[in-house]
Order: sequence, then C-alpha cells, then structure tokens
Amino acid sequence: MNSPAMKAVMYHYVRPFDADYPNFKNLHIDDFEKQLDYFDETYGFVSKKDFLKAIETGKPTPGVVLTFDDGFKDHFQYVLPVLQRRNLWGIFYITTGVYTFRSLLDVHKIHLLLGKIPSPQLFEVLRGVVSEEMLSHKNVSAFREATYQLQKNDDHTNLVKRTLNYYIDYQFRTEVIDTLMSHFFEASPSEIFEEFYLSEKELKAMHDAGMILGSHTVNHPVMSKLSLQEQKEEIINSFSFLKSITGEFHAKTFCYPYGGFHTFTDETKKVLNNEHVQFSFNVEARPISVTDLVHNRQALPRFDCNQFPFGNCRT
Ligand SMILES: [Zn+2]
Repeated sequence: MNSPAMKAVMYHYVRPFDADYPNFKNLHIDDFEKQLDYFDETYGFVSKKDFLKAIETGKPTPGVVLTFDDGFKDHFQYVLPVLQRRNLWGIFYITTGVYTFRSLLDVHKIHLLLGKIPSPQLFEVLRGVVSEEMLSHKNVSAFREATYQLQKNDDHTNLVKRTLNYYIDYQFRTEVIDTLMSHFFEASPSEIFEEFYLSEKELKAMHDAGMILGSHTVNHPVMSKLSLQEQKEEIINSFSFLKSITGEFHAKTFCYPYGGFHTFTDETKKVLNNEHVQFSFNVEARPISVTDLVHNRQALPRFDCNQFPFGNCRT
C-alpha cells in the first residue's frame, strides 16, 4: 500500500465524542486530523484539478482522494473546516431522498439506537416489540437460538443488527425500528433529521466552497436488487435533486450504497454511462490503476479509512 499510487479513501461519520451517544461508531475528529497528517507525509493528496484530469485522460496521479458518504451534518460541521484549513477538497455522496421524506433512513436510525442505548437494554425492548410472526419463517429458529446464546455486549449488538437487517420480514422493519425510536428518543425522526443530515443550504455552501457533491441514490437501496427502471429512477432523480440545489456539477459522479461487487450489476453501470456520469466509486481495497481509469470508471476502487493508521473508531 506504500507505493506511489492514486488511492481513494472512504469516510462516514467524523465527529467528536458525544456523551449522549457513548457507543456511537464514528471516526473521532482528532483521529481524522491525524490520518490527514499521515496521508500528507506518506502519500500526499491529489488536487481536484489533477483528479478530474486523471479521469479525463486515464493517467493516474499519485496521492490520496478523500470521499465522504451519506450526507451527514458532520461533513459540514467538522470535516469542511478541516479541509478548508488544509487547502484540501473532498467528494461528498448524498442520499437525496431524505430531503423529500424529511426523516432518517432506517440504517441510520439503527446507528443512533446502538450509539445511545446499551445493547442488552435495546435488545430487551426489541424482543418485546418483535413477535414471531414478524420474523421470516426460516429465521424464527435462528432468532431463538441466538437469543439463547447471548453473553457479551457485542452479542447483543450483533443480534439487534441481525434481527433488524435479516430476521425481520421486510414489511415490518420500518414499523419495528420506529417503535424503538419512539421508545428511546424524545425527538421524532423528522426532528432528528434536521440535526443529522446536511441541510440544503449546507449542500449549496459546500458546493460553492469547491467540494464535489455526488449522487448516492435517492433511497440508499442495494441497486442490484432493483429492476432496471427502478435503478434508472434512483440515479436520474438524485442527480436532478442535486442540480436543483447547486445549478451545475463540478463533476458528475456516483457512489453505490453499501458497496462491493454484489451491490450493482452491469446494467447499473450502463445506466450510469448513459447518464454521462464521469466516474463512480465502489468499495474495494486497492489503488486506482490506469486500467480502472480507462475501462472501469463506473466502479473505481476505494479503501475504507480504517485500513490506514488512525482510521478506527475509538469505542
Ligand atoms: Zn451509504
């Protein structure tokens, strides 16, 4: 990993410790700064101009490119000032549907619940809310068995996640998560929305500050599970929203929700090409090669920040 190559790095939550969310899984803002120091000393950064030129010409420039997923308020409040102080830039991938339904994505509600509530307590309430007919039939025994084997805190965390993400029949998922939210949070998801995601004003301010805003779909689905028509809508509608905020694109770019080769198909890439998307990011831990820039621009590889020093959550 120490060779002079072009490397994209992915971040999600970047914020200071918050006593209200003692178990929240975020990169600490101080560790983010340390990691930037490390990148600066070890690889250097690719300027926005050089990166866009590399996309155009197919010739990579050595150094690091920073990307941030999911449009969290963190990215305006904590990341932007750090980038500006250091004369850096970043690509920010926005899930645009949250601005229509003005609430939290289910995946983020789960992060908040696990961040705030000790997992054994969360699981106890979950167990009271979930009835067996809500579990997909083949998962009932898996749920029972896992419940019986609980020992450590982490077991509870894993079981909460597995229950909400896999065991529950999809039609009951939002309802169960919302019941947990109203049990543990005084504020409604639509009130939390305001402090959790970037506002439209902040999106515009970031664009005006030279940051690239990209599409991360409308609803954050696993794209490979959708029909071609649904995939088109996810891509086209999210770009329309971004354009309505910024008026133009510094670059037209996309990033697959969840990431990994199972989360998109050749059809997805075809839609992106048809929409003249210049480049898209996948999650794959290797540098961006010449071959990627020439033949693989709709699935560029990207490291997770935890694959470099200072990139792990503190809790
Ligand atoms: Zn995401």
